[in-house]
Amino acid sequence: MKELRDLTRKLLADGDAGVVIGWEEGRRGARPAFITTPDDADKLIFDARCVHNLANYLNPRKPQVKALGKPAVVVKGCDAKAVAGLLREAQLTRDRVILIGVRCGGVVQTPEMPAELTEATVATRCYGCDVREPKLVDHLVGDARPEPPVTAALDRRIAELDALSPRERWQFWTSQLAKCTRCHACRQACPLCHCERCITDKTQPQWIESSSHLRGNFAWHLTRAQHLAGRCVGCGECERACPVGIPLSLINRKLQLVVKDLFDYTVTDDPEVPAPIGAYAVDDKQEFIE
Ligand code: SF4
Ligand code: SF4
Ligand code: SF4
Repeated sequence: MKELRDLTRKLLADGDAGVVIGWEEGRRGARPAFITTPDDADKLIFDARCVHNLANYLNPRKPQVKALGKPAVVVKGCDAKAVAGLLREAQLTRDRVILIGVRCGGVVQTPEMPAELTEATVATRCYGCDVREPKLVDHLVGDARPEPPVTAALDRRIAELDALSPRERWQFWTSQLAKCTRCHACRQACPLCHCERCITDKTQPQWIESSSHLRGNFAWHLTRAQHLAGRCVGCGECERACPVGIPLSLINRKLQLVVKDLFDYTVTDDPEVPAPIGAYAVDDKQEFIE
């Protein structure tokens, strides 16, 4: 923690950063912190409750953050993957951000939970994590942490759904998506949902019905899923933001598995590696249009 706080003080005092975005203690657990003066650097914390993917504040849809000056952002490895996504998609340039990587030992499911990591409390995103020591960084702080407890709960649930008949699966998703209020909190929470004007907000022509009913809800979720296939970093922030508890991580993870299977691609924190959605291969089988 001292290393992170000292670095924050230095970056702000030297004028290298206008704001350091990290986490601080809030009334309900950890919460994002925007540190703009060296004196406030001691507010910063990092532990297993620091769940938020702070890369979202680099999303060009957040002009309020831009107004604070050049940001230095504290990133776990999975957050660094989201930053790589923004760089890959030309939504950010590397000179416009300072990345402070933290060595990570996993996070709990929500920032209000106690910091103790167990199989029951660890976030599903940490299962099989390959970036506990992020590489896309300008500074790396903190000691190495032990591996998080293993939970394959998400993959188990996907296997259960895959084993259902198409009718049963349809019924499951109908019951889930019927709950969607179309608040779009899932979109706002996502670092990779960066369109200036989302297709679901367009009314002339209207591509997706915007009121909350099953037909429009299905159109929204199918569009969202396809737009994030091969781009989603699995941070789970969309699901955490959903006020009605729709298990969006099941959709996100299933698409990760499909993209791996079809394109041998796993989302990475190397912005130079092209994602399938932005790459062209002459030997692409293009089975989807056959
Ligand atoms: S996915 Fe990896 S980097 Fe992200 S919180 Fe879990 S262990 Fe840490
Ligand atoms: S779709 Fe959800 S899990 Fe994927 S990057 Fe966006 S917020 Fe994270
Ligand atoms: S946050 Fe939940 S309720 Fe709101 S649009 Fe997304 S899935 Fe629907």
